Amino acid sequence: MTLETPLSRVLGAKTAKAMAESLELHTVRDLLRHYPRRYARRGEMTRLDDLQVGDRVTVLAQVRRVTTRRMRNRPGSLTEVTVGDGAGEMQLVFFNRRHGNLREGAWGLFAGTVGEYRRAKQFAHPDFHLITGDDDEDWARALIPIYPATKDVSSWVVQKSVRLLLDASGGFGFVEDPLPEELRARHGLPSLPAALLDVHRPTSQDDVDRAAERLKWDEALTLQLVLAARRRAAALEPGTARPPRGGGLLDAVDAALPFELTEGQRAVGEELAAELSRDSPMHRLLQGEVGSGKTVVALRAMAQVVDAGGQAALLAPTEVLAAQHARSIAAMLGPLARAGELDGDPAGTRVVLLTGSLKAAARREARAAVADGSAGIVVGTHALLQEGVDFADLGLVVVDEQHRFGVEQRDALRAKGDRPPHVLVMTATPIPRTVAMTVYGDLETSVLRQLPSGRGGVASSVVPASDKPAWLDRAWERLREEVAAGRQAYVVCPRIGDDDTGSAETDAPDDADGAPEEAGGGDRRPPLAVLDVAEALHEGPLAGLRLAVLHGRMTPEAKEATMRAFAAREVDVLVATTVVEVGVDVPNATVMVVLDADRFGVSQLHQLRGRVARGRHQGLCLLVTELSLASATGQRLTAVASTSDGFELARVDLETRREGDVLGAAQSGRRSNVKLLSLLEDEELIAAARLEAAALLATDRGLADHPGLAAEVAALATDERATYLEKA
Ligand code: ADP
Ligand code: MG
Repeated sequence: MTLETPLSRVLGAKTAKAMAESLELHTVRDLLRHYPRRYARRGEMTRLDDLQVGDRVTVLAQVRRVTTRRMRNRPGSLTEVTVGDGAGEMQLVFFNRRHGNLREGAWGLFAGTVGEYRRAKQFAHPDFHLITGDDDEDWARALIPIYPATKDVSSWVVQKSVRLLLDASGGFGFVEDPLPEELRARHGLPSLPAALLDVHRPTSQDDVDRAAERLKWDEALTLQLVLAARRRAAALEPGTARPPRGGGLLDAVDAALPFELTEGQRAVGEELAAELSRDSPMHRLLQGEVGSGKTVVALRAMAQVVDAGGQAALLAPTEVLAAQHARSIAAMLGPLARAGELDGDPAGTRVVLLTGSLKAAARREARAAVADGSAGIVVGTHALLQEGVDFADLGLVVVDEQHRFGVEQRDALRAKGDRPPHVLVMTATPIPRTVAMTVYGDLETSVLRQLPSGRGGVASSVVPASDKPAWLDRAWERLREEVAAGRQAYVVCPRIGDDDTGSAETDAPDDADGAPEEAGGGDRRPPLAVLDVAEALHEGPLAGLRLAVLHGRMTPEAKEATMRAFAAREVDVLVATTVVEVGVDVPNATVMVVLDADRFGVSQLHQLRGRVARGRHQGLCLLVTELSLASATGQRLTAVASTSDGFELARVDLETRREGDVLGAAQSGRRSNVKLLSLLEDEELIAAARLEAAALLATDRGLADHPGLAAEVAALATDERATYLEKA
């Protein structure tokens, strides 16, 4: 037997087929890596109150009572079995004597879907497996593994199958340990066979903990080796050095800045300047709080590249943002942005906007300027790179507000031209350290924590519209007060309205995270819509104010015109979808009312409120919800309102979204290489594995001396399951 042996050769054909089909377990390796989800003990029945209707669960309990009666309205009989342990009781319901040999006093595992009848939780005809002291050795150990299971493959079938492997192999003796022995010794980790034995058949919680630690190492190290290999490969790629050259565009930008750079902006600027001067391409992630001034940092890097004779592209997630960037960069550069034009400065360059909505002629002209190199700075949306636009000499790509600019896109970029450009990815959605080390493990990161001084900050609160309707009236009043004081406001809704069906806003950036599922509940009214709300406000609480709407179904020209009017203070209140989520920069806007705030994700709300934190005046963000503040979602909103520390919120976000969502769909699926590792809890382990991975790859021999590890890495790297690295 080896790890690659098909299960069909060691288990019965029927079992092997069921395992393959319902749990995607095909080989001995798959089965051994199918770890218990938890362990049941006598006297610790899963608290029934904790079970959700619809959950599929397995519980360990003892039969207390069995009563059978005829059904009143239809033929047949109904048997109610009450099971329990020290902690609680639960009803099992069987129709027509399907309860077999359940007798009072018997212990068993019961698996089924939690239902509810007359307000009591129950299992309708669950599967069960009685435990008899003699044939079940595990029973003596009193720590019974509960495996992820399905209707077709129950936990106890998995348990039996593992036992079969164990007995056949005399203690997993055939399993070779991929971890180098001295690494194991250094971190005090048990061997793989020992860990597998302990995780599948523990005698104590200590066994489980020790085994889990070791098995997490397997996951973390393999992942980090893949990432380290990527970093190494990237470092060996030939790039073009773009060192600073005095007296050019960069100096002009610095001279034109209407403010002092913050310390953070300066430090990151130096980091970037040095990296752009090297001839291996930069791959850097810049995380900066909303409003921390990332654009200027990017602009200065772009200017350096232009000074060195290259071109720089700035990619925004939406056309609205791209247009805004092009406008503000052109304004900052003045004549330097119009080289070749009558009033242009010949020492400057050209800034062109290249988006899908340009008219054909303008588009042709822009493309020509990009191709002949006269446009040093090109602003567009992420689509720019996919559309086969030709650059004369692309030196730097800046990707704005896109924390999910995956490995795949980065690879595509590298394939552009014979020398890959430098790449800077910017995001205001803070990424917890563990995520930065895993999903972004192949990027170097910089952080801008500090906001420019003189900012008013944002005060946020939750408005429980159902519990306290008067608060909502007060919210509109506050908005009117701000407008009366000369300021402007946003009202944000989850939906556009009219003929859409509550689906996502179409122009939302593609990295917008959805609110957790619970928020989308089936029988609730549809989310509020921009078009309806604008009308209602116009006739009601905001009558007399100048309102405009902004959403993804408008033409790019109309959006652009509306943004301009808002920026020019011709509009008091912008009623919008999340198109305003990222980057929109109107410092005079100070109030934001988010309706149905529970429909948005944590980082989305943080982004949104960043729109009213951009000027000298204090911003106000009101999160309106009809849900109770005591609900999980209500608490999430309260958390958003109570802190403006993006890193803290990233943690809340990570806690409320299941980790599977972060590491990608593959993780929540059954077949993933990351099963035990937790992004929330295993920060230290991940960091240690990252160091070990770098050390292992530091020599030219790479993994040549560690064939076991090399095999694990190869499996992960070529495995389609590894797509979670890209998708996440
Ligand atoms: P973000 O990091 O969210 O993209 P921006 O780059 O849009 O932030 O900057 C937000 C605002 O702060 C802009 O109006 C910008 O001009 C201004 N800003 C940037 N840096 C500074 C600074 N050092 N001092 C004062 N204002 C600044
Ligand atoms: Mg920005």
